[in-house]
Amino acid sequence: MKRILVTGGAGFIGSHLCDRLLADGNDVICLDNYFTGSKSNIVHLVDNPFFELVRHDVTHPYFAEVDEIYNLACPASPVHYQYNPIKTIKTSVMGSINMLGLAKRVRAKIMQASTSEVYGDPQVHPQKESYWGNVNPIGIRSCYDEGKRCAEALFMDYHRQNSVKIKIIRIFNTYGPRMHPNDGRVVSNFIVQALTGQPITIFGDGTQTRSFQYVDDLIEGMVRMMNTGNDIIGPVNLGNPNEFSMLELAREVLDITGSSSKIIHKPLPQDDPTQRKPDISLAQEMLDGWEPRVQLRNGLRLTVEYFDKLLSKA
Ligand code: NAD
Ligand code: UDP
Repeated sequence: MKRILVTGGAGFIGSHLCDRLLADGNDVICLDNYFTGSKSNIVHLVDNPFFELVRHDVTHPYFAEVDEIYNLACPASPVHYQYNPIKTIKTSVMGSINMLGLAKRVRAKIMQASTSEVYGDPQVHPQKESYWGNVNPIGIRSCYDEGKRCAEALFMDYHRQNSVKIKIIRIFNTYGPRMHPNDGRVVSNFIVQALTGQPITIFGDGTQTRSFQYVDDLIEGMVRMMNTGNDIIGPVNLGNPNEFSMLELAREVLDITGSSSKIIHKPLPQDDPTQRKPDISLAQEMLDGWEPRVQLRNGLRLTVEYFDKLLSKA
């Protein structure tokens, strides 16, 4: 049995990761400051004797004896990470330094949840890990993008300088049950709007693209990556290469929900990337043939079911 620390464990992805790690027979410490996460995401785990919940902010040091660390703590949706941008950068940078310091002290393996945002508004399509990106360093998204880029640099330097065992994954847009209904991300926005009969808000003309990955596929990739040998450090893209425009996504959500919500257009936010699609050949090669299995339509159905139940309780 391994003792595993999951920072950001009460969030959308972190809570699914805690479920999986416990199901695999591990001892899990879930650390979160509840900025965007919620106890309701992990309430079903609190009676499990192998699960420990800690209220803590990763910008402060944390001490525990652990074998592995998954560092997920960081708000992920533009609305949330722009709410207090200085805190967002501190979370990525100081949080990484604290967790890397912990990994160094206890010789734990540590994984950084990096992001496709390190590619910015990419000029190379699809994005391979070797692409260095096109990020505006002074824009309103930079608190997130540059924070995550700095975190990657820190991980690499702790690895080179202190031989810390690291893994870096670059996660592409992921969706599924337990997304925050108000976090402003496109999948949750469109589903909640469709279910409540509000207009579907497309930013810009809706031709911008994203590639949406169902959360279970991501979790499988994360666990496989953590279990690779010490020679594999990444960064490695984890995403679903099927690319959709926001207009296509809106139509799919309307079709699945049977909603009569109208589509309306709102201004495109500053620095909004025009296209995004992962090249996942490295992940397929390094992670034993890993690839996403859940098609958008099926994943959306499961997510709609979740929001439907959530909204009917509210
Ligand atoms: P989320 O907002 O649901 O989860 C983030 C969690 O981190 C929340 O529980 C939040 O309370 C916690 N947190 C934030 N600041 C903290 C701090 N200072 N100290 C302790 N806890 C803190 O978002 P998510 O979608 O689950 O994202 C998890 C991770 O995956 C993030 O690091 C994010 O950058 C990364 N990621 C997510 C996506 C995606 O599409 N969901 C894409 C790329 C990368
Ligand atoms: N978007 C949209 N309507 C919304 C929310 C988002 O059209 O109500 C667009 C947004 O402008 C972006 C895409 O959907 O082009 C994905 O946005 P999200 O915030 O989910 O993720 P990110 O931009 O970080 O990939």
